[in-house]
Amino acid sequence: MSPVSESNTLQAIRAAMQQAGVDALWISQPANVRYLSGFSSPEDAKLLLTAEGALLYTDSRYALQAAQEVGTGVHIARPPATLEHAAERVRGLRVGFEAEHLTVAGLDELRQYWQAELLPLRRLVETLRLVKSDAEVALIRRAQAIADAAYAEVLPQLQAGARESDLALALELAMRRLGADGPSFETIVASGERGALPHGRASGKQLAAGELVTLDFGALLDGYHSDMTRTVPIGEVGPELRRLYLAVLDAEEQAIAAAGPGMRAADLDTLAREVLAGHGLAESFTHSLGHGVGLDIHEGPGLRATSDEVLRPGMVVTIEPGVYLPGVGGVRIEDLLLITESGHEVLSQSPKARL
Ligand code: ZN
Ligand code: ZN
Repeated sequence: MSPVSESNTLQAIRAAMQQAGVDALWISQPANVRYLSGFSSPEDAKLLLTAEGALLYTDSRYALQAAQEVGTGVHIARPPATLEHAAERVRGLRVGFEAEHLTVAGLDELRQYWQAELLPLRRLVETLRLVKSDAEVALIRRAQAIADAAYAEVLPQLQAGARESDLALALELAMRRLGADGPSFETIVASGERGALPHGRASGKQLAAGELVTLDFGALLDGYHSDMTRTVPIGEVGPELRRLYLAVLDAEEQAIAAAGPGMRAADLDTLAREVLAGHGLAESFTHSLGHGVGLDIHEGPGLRATSDEVLRPGMVVTIEPGVYLPGVGGVRIEDLLLITESGHEVLSQSPKARL
């Protein structure tokens, strides 16, 4: 079963469909399929929502799994038989599809098989996913706890001579051993000058004394992600790296302190940016402050200047300022927060280096 309460979710999606002016919805984005159906292999499934109910389409490899997991109706077929089956149900209807996910070829197929009016919709299900249910928060909390425990295991290995790729492997192995289904995304381990790569995937480089190393990783659990970054000194670091680290820590702590319900995501981004500007590092913070985390590792709300989202209780977001200086190195510190009625709760518990 879906960790999301079926009735509430289906009620909410029906209200959203009505508002969007559609009678039916064809869902192809995997996280959205999973969210609405509970099916754990959504990459190989589609979901049709009509007035009669929800129907999951998947193929015979998943017949048993779908019967066990899915609370909605299931129809086992391969394309194009799925589209022929769905055609009966959508004839003459206004059917919404996910404009940001369905391919041009996929849309052509719908047009070929269906006698229906097809309407492109944006972020219909994603908007429902912004605020997490208690069951979703519980999974994210457990995923983060696994990542925290893995970090505690690997921390003693952050020594001069250790290879970045071995550290990434050690983190991923520990997370799996602790119950994760896998890493949330490709583990980032970036040391020394490689720290200037915001998404520096682990390489064969060895850590050296006097460097900073940035580790960004998460655990995947029942479809839900966690996300955290720590930057750690290897031995003593010089004054320039120390200055960068303390500036990012200052921005991160101030942004976390300000995070709560009613806060505009754009204002939180601005706040962190102004703190870094005060340290003379405005130009070096080259990405947005953070993002929502759930069934997708990057989802709404985006914490960036162009966002019009307002934080609400039940949202799970990252706060992750960073500075990146080519030829010198970089620092990023990222925590995972649950927005609560009274403010926020920091879900990531791993200690931060105090330089
Ligand atoms: Zn991250
Ligand atoms: Zn992140």
